[in-house]
Amino acid sequence: MPAEPEYKTLQAMISLFCRHRHKSDNLCTHCSELLEYAEQRLAKCPFGDNKPTCRVCHIHCYAPEMRKRIAEVMRFSGPRMILHHPIMALRYLVQTRKSNSGVHSISERRTDAPSRNE
Ligand SMILES: [Zn+2]
Repeated sequence: MPAEPEYKTLQAMISLFCRHRHKSDNLCTHCSELLEYAEQRLAKCPFGDNKPTCRVCHIHCYAPEMRKRIAEVMRFSGPRMILHHPIMALRYLVQTRKSNSGVHSISERRTDAPSRNE
């Protein structure tokens, strides 16, 4: 099993999607099939460690049906990743931006506002 961040992100996104869409605590058959497929594609990716994220990759190695499914997962889980897995989501965004333009700037938001206790 590849221990790449890409795989972990994918796994997190698919389980998030499944929990909400299919009301399944563990991945349902449908979704584990998708994850397994994605894992295989990742393992065979010719870019190896230098790969861009699959979202911006120009090879599009997914079969059309699987692409449709993974795209649906990303549309759903992409924005939600910020809430559930902020670190992963941030890294994912940075990666995507890097491969798009070579430049990235993420403004760090600080949360040091005084908290009120009662
Ligand atoms: Zn599912």
